[in-house]
Amino acid sequence: MTRALITGVTGQDGSYLAELLLAQGYEVHGVTRDAGEVVTPGVIAHELDLSTDSAIGGLITELQPREIYNLAALSSVFQSWQNPTLTARLNGAVVAEMLAAVKTIHDQGDVDIRFVQASSAEIFGTPTDSPQHEGTPVRPTSPYGAAKAYAHGLVGAYRTAGVAASSLILYNHESPRRPETFVTRKITAAAARISRGLQDTLELGNMDARRDWGWAPDYADALVRAAQHPDADDFVIATGISHSVRDFVAAAFERAGVEDWADRVTVADSLLRTGDAALQRGDASKAQQILGWTPTVEFDEIVAAMVDHDLALLT
Ligand code: GDP
Repeated sequence: MTRALITGVTGQDGSYLAELLLAQGYEVHGVTRDAGEVVTPGVIAHELDLSTDSAIGGLITELQPREIYNLAALSSVFQSWQNPTLTARLNGAVVAEMLAAVKTIHDQGDVDIRFVQASSAEIFGTPTDSPQHEGTPVRPTSPYGAAKAYAHGLVGAYRTAGVAASSLILYNHESPRRPETFVTRKITAAAARISRGLQDTLELGNMDARRDWGWAPDYADALVRAAQHPDADDFVIATGISHSVRDFVAAAFERAGVEDWADRVTVADSLLRTGDAALQRGDASKAQQILGWTPTVEFDEIVAAMVDHDLALLT
């Protein structure tokens, strides 16, 4: 039985990844912040608050997992401006602690651990290329992006030092498990409530921002493919197609059966972001060639699945 360790196991990606690994017969261990968090059944939970506790290296040494997936992070770009120090710790320093432990085990010749980092399109900031690829300059424009960029650089450094570490540059990936701090779920939940007369209006920030939105389970699949591939490397994981927030709003309200949505949606300056990229679009051809990865769910299907889920929650 292959043993895997997932940080961030209770999040959207962690839950899909845990399900995927359990279905493949893995022994799955997961790090949780506290006992109150809901963990996928079958996962062996280890309670550890990564924001204050430096015990993750010890846990890795104790478990000696074959694969480590680092998904723990402060996951909101917006919140990273409110808490840059916590962002630096969770999205940056914790990765250093983990990689240091992996390298010690590697240098002792004990176990060959495969490390997979959930990186982000935010490392490119306002990108110089479109679509972005693995060679696009890393120039973050938010504390979130800067901390992810540090971690991305660390993964490369440890790979050069012999550790089998991969960094997957994930573009936005959504599902009904997204919390409403992300614009997609905020929109689908609001569209569902508005369609039932439970809410009047929806306040958003930049509706012209274009993002490359994919289906979260596809991105969990990419993480596993990277871990299982013999050669560690960096990979962009994206659909290659971008849509605006406005497109997402239109598709969600249409699905929810609300025609007069234009009167219902307002823009609040307080929700606009500093350093928000106007356009993100990723080129995942390297992942396709080397990992055999392709996205399987299109934009309209993602919107439909999320709206339908939110409508069902109201019945
Ligand atoms: P993130 O970029 O990975 O943090 O994902 P989000 O879903 O939070 O944001 C995606 C895009 O939607 C960004 O360009 C935001 O500026 C934009 N956006 C516009 N209005 C909102 C809003 O009300 N909430 C959030 N979270 N994002 C918004």
